[in-house]
Amino acid sequence: MPAANFASSAASESGQADVLAIAAHRDDVEQTCGGTLLRMAARGLRTAILDLTQGETGSRGTAQQRAEEAAEAARLLGVSRREALDLPDGAVENTLENRIKIVRVLRSVRPRVVILPYWQARHPDHAIAATLGYEAFFLSGLKKVYTLAAPHIPFKIVYASLYADVRPSFIVDITPFIEQRHAALMAYGSQYKNQETASALFVPEEEIRERTFAEARHYGLLAGVRYGEPFVQKEVSLVDDLTLLPVQSI
Ligand SMILES: [Zn+2]
Repeated sequence: MPAANFASSAASESGQADVLAIAAHRDDVEQTCGGTLLRMAARGLRTAILDLTQGETGSRGTAQQRAEEAAEAARLLGVSRREALDLPDGAVENTLENRIKIVRVLRSVRPRVVILPYWQARHPDHAIAATLGYEAFFLSGLKKVYTLAAPHIPFKIVYASLYADVRPSFIVDITPFIEQRHAALMAYGSQYKNQETASALFVPEEEIRERTFAEARHYGLLAGVRYGEPFVQKEVSLVDDLTLLPVQSI
């Protein structure tokens, strides 16, 4: 692999975070793991978001509007860093060039945990983002994949599975953060405020709250809490003390 091709003078050594959420589109993270990011921030952890696309092919709004809305949503979610790559919206591909773009961010943010979308999805961008993210994660640890920053392999990948009809491995209790998560989603006024453009394609504004709260309630019930967000992990869990296992059986 030719070393110098991937060096980036733009690579930043600052802006590290404990948890990095990667998603295909601006507003995906708000829907699938925004409450979890809020919960991690409340625990004093540093959180960050990487959106792979900028939303230029959306039926509503412009990429510039979505950038401003994403910045406001990031503020509401308490994340310390949010970036968007320039992958084509609606045509995300798992290429070496795209993997390297993510490697640069992984080596700059240096997270312990990465949240990816679940790997099977109705929207191809979501499914490809999962594989693309996973392969970038692997490359990020290889010394010979050269960027200006040192190699870094995050400790853990978890998959946000809200968009997928699969049984989650675990639920994060987002009960105290559900209103704030909703506010972050509604920061995308160009997408979710009622309007003529593409009104047949979008859920009416008044239904968004009901639908997202119902989903969160469903996942919360699985874990015996009010509102929850679902995740899948590929590894098993390790238990120390059986008497401290959460989620009551009966
Ligand atoms: Zn999406």
